[in-house]
Amino acid sequence: MNNKRIVVAVDGPAGAGKSTISKRVAKILNLEYIDTGAMYRALTLKILRKGINPKDVTKIMEVMEETIIFFKNNHIYLDGTKVDEEIRKNIVNKHVSEISKIGKVREKMVDMQRKLSESTNVIMDGRDIGTVVLPHANYKFFITASVEERARRRYKELLERGEKNISYDQVLSDIKERDRIDSTRQIAPLKKSPDALVIDTTNKTIDECVNQIIGIIEGR
Ligand code: C5P
Repeated sequence: MNNKRIVVAVDGPAGAGKSTISKRVAKILNLEYIDTGAMYRALTLKILRKGINPKDVTKIMEVMEETIIFFKNNHIYLDGTKVDEEIRKNIVNKHVSEISKIGKVREKMVDMQRKLSESTNVIMDGRDIGTVVLPHANYKFFITASVEERARRRYKELLERGEKNISYDQVLSDIKERDRIDSTRQIAPLKKSPDALVIDTTNKTIDECVNQIIGIIEGR
């Protein structure tokens, strides 16, 4: 590795393994990890808590103006309170894409995300990182897996978190719906940047994917 700043963009659909892989790469290479999905989730959590209609753009922007989202030691804080657990709840899964497709919300988030990555070695994951947030990233990956495998992983994760009254079929259909909204929205849809390397995790272990990415960054 030479001395230039390391900026890694990781995109892909829900449940593909982006955050698990990015976290490990961050730890091994000593990079700052920024989970942009967590930022959209934190805002969504606040909107839901306030009982605001996820389609009410004016109210949502008012809330966003007075919201502080930041990361500290790999935890996400919403207005000063740690919300790592709450933002992973199924109710947030269900509404986050609705809120993330609002152009004004994205503008502010992208601004925040660029600032967070300005002066540090960073790996950032999301849906539009290689295409919009960090188009000049020096390494870009698009991590994916079959929709059934992604649903299986999310279902297992939700059960482990103690969520009740969920079925695999429901999780599968929610993921398909989230994929649909994320990939067809007008602004910054989920899409592979032409210069990103695709990693399909369906039949790969996390370690294999992590090693592949590190090998590329280290120029092996
Ligand atoms: O990555 P994660 O599944 O936590 O992201 C939650 C949601 O946030 C996505 O389904 C998408 O709607 C939104 N998102 C986005 N742009 C990003 C990251 C996440 O629109 N860069």
